[in-house]
Order: sequence, then C-alpha cells, then structure tokens
Amino acid sequence: MHRYFMGIDLGGTLIKLAAIDVSTDPPALGEVLRASTPAGNAEGIVATMIKAGRDVLDRLGATKPEELAGVGIGAPGPLDRHAGVIVNAPNLPELSGMPLRDRIGQGLHLPAVLENDANAAAWGEHLFGAGRGVKSVVLLTLGTGVGGGIVADGRLVHGTHGFAGELGHMIIHPGGLPCTCGQAGCLEQYASAANIARRAAAAIHQGRKSVLSTLLEERGGLSAADVNDARGRGDALAGEIWDDATYSLAVACVNLQRLLDCQMIILAGGLTRAGEDLLGPIRRHYAELNWRMTDVPAQIVLAALEDDTGVYGAAGVAWKEIDREHGER
Ligand SMILES: [Zn+2]
Repeated sequence: MHRYFMGIDLGGTLIKLAAIDVSTDPPALGEVLRASTPAGNAEGIVATMIKAGRDVLDRLGATKPEELAGVGIGAPGPLDRHAGVIVNAPNLPELSGMPLRDRIGQGLHLPAVLENDANAAAWGEHLFGAGRGVKSVVLLTLGTGVGGGIVADGRLVHGTHGFAGELGHMIIHPGGLPCTCGQAGCLEQYASAANIARRAAAAIHQGRKSVLSTLLEERGGLSAADVNDARGRGDALAGEIWDDATYSLAVACVNLQRLLDCQMIILAGGLTRAGEDLLGPIRRHYAELNWRMTDVPAQIVLAALEDDTGVYGAAGVAWKEIDREHGER
C-alpha cells in the first residue's frame, strides 16, 4: 500500500505543493504544483491552498483513504507550532493570528502540521537532499532575508519558544548595520540577496563610483546578481560588498561549527544561483577563519533540491510528526 504525505510551502508570491510516497525507500518525491499567492487576502490564500491541495490528492489516485496520511505546511514565521498559528509573518501580515494548520487540515480532511519554512527546508535537505544520511546539518536560506534551520543529531531543533535557527539574526559585526529586528550587525544585513543589492545602491547614492551606477539610474534598483556580475568585471565597490557578504557567511559558518560540530552547512535560496562565485569565497574565508585545533571542517555545499527544498521538507515534517518512528533518522 502507498502512504502519502503532502507538503505545502507557503511563500509571499508562490504556493508550492507536492506529495511524497514513503512506502518506498527512499521515498518517492512527486511532481511540484505551483499556485500564485493571492497576497493581501487571507481567506483567498486558505482557499487556494485547499483547492490546489485537493488537485494534488486527486492526481495521486489513492484508492484507500488510509493511503493519505497527512499534510505539512511550511510557512514564514515566527509561528506557534503547537497552536498551529502564524504569529507574525512580515511578508504575509494578513495571515497573522490565522489558525492555518486547522483550516488546511479541515479543508483537506487530513491531519496537519505547521512548521517554520526554513526549518522545513533544513529537514527536507536532511531527509532527501544534500544532507541525506548526515546527522547534523545546518541550512541557511539566502533570499530576501536570511533564514535558517538546524538538524542536530538527527533532530530538528526548535528551542524553548520555537525560535531556534533564526540564523539571519546572529550578530556577525557588533555595532554594525541596524537590522529590522532591533539588533545591529545581523548576518541578514550583510548576506541576504536583497541587502547585497541595497548596500550597492546606497553606496552609489552616497557618491561611490561603480559600473552599476548607470543600471541603477535606468532601473531604479539593483539585484544581487547585478552586484556579482559587476564584481566579475572588476568593479571595486561590487567586489567589496560581495567579499563582505561571503566573509560574513564564513564567520557564521565557523560559529555554527563551534556551536554544533555539524558535518555539513547547506546554502539555499536565490543567492545560491551565483554557484561557485558564492561558494568559492565562503570556503576560502572559512579556511582562514576556522580554528587549527582539529582538521574536521564542515562541508559547505549548495542545496540539492534547489527551489523545492521547502515543499518536500514540509511533507517530511508531517511524516516525522505523524509517523514518529519512521520520520526521525
Ligand atoms: Zn536582525
């Protein structure tokens, strides 16, 4: 008999859904279905998740209800996992206070689990991706912000209040750039794709010379890919900002390694499209900064499931919570 878990990855612009079949080893990962997030409309978001979820379930062609075991929802946090409620999602404020887990569970007639999206992504890479078979893994998502998830000794770490793994708000540069969270010098201010672009634009506005100034004038904004491209063409400002980002990430990786003795640090999110241009400098800085006490560095790698890490991870979280003895590795 098949045994399916569905994952839903709720993002600010896209909702992704997919089923996994855990009756095989390794589990079979089904096709990913995508729907636009009707931002600004909380009821519309719930209705879209339920409708698209039913489409995924219909396509499975499951003949027995017991084949459909549960649904995991990965959502931006902070959230109350036990109550199944999003507490405060900066990108989806209309969902604050929504009992999302129960609404989706009732709509799909399935046991439902709610998890922070970056935690779900870390679990996804641990179960099915680059971290398969690795017991201690940290995942950093590098996109608009910097998110994180920690799998330590085979368990997803939540902490006392469920806020473990907020790695974008580790202070990397004490007294540094102010952060939206109220601290200063957070990793996110230096290493998110959005902030790399923003820092380049701010420096040009303050009079720094750069090959990016024409592009900034034409478009009114820049992307992290523009900064990397200019760095590749020898632009000094772009080179400094890119180096600061990769140095900051290397500092974070060394600190994570000291904290957890993890075997692998996985990078995910839009910034990782830079590939070796990102990995190479991070690995170099890491090698310079890392202690000399032992010779067991963490491997720093890119996510294997790319953009689908979160949706398969959300399904994996439901598997872990509902089939406890099978989900935990
Ligand atoms: Zn912060």
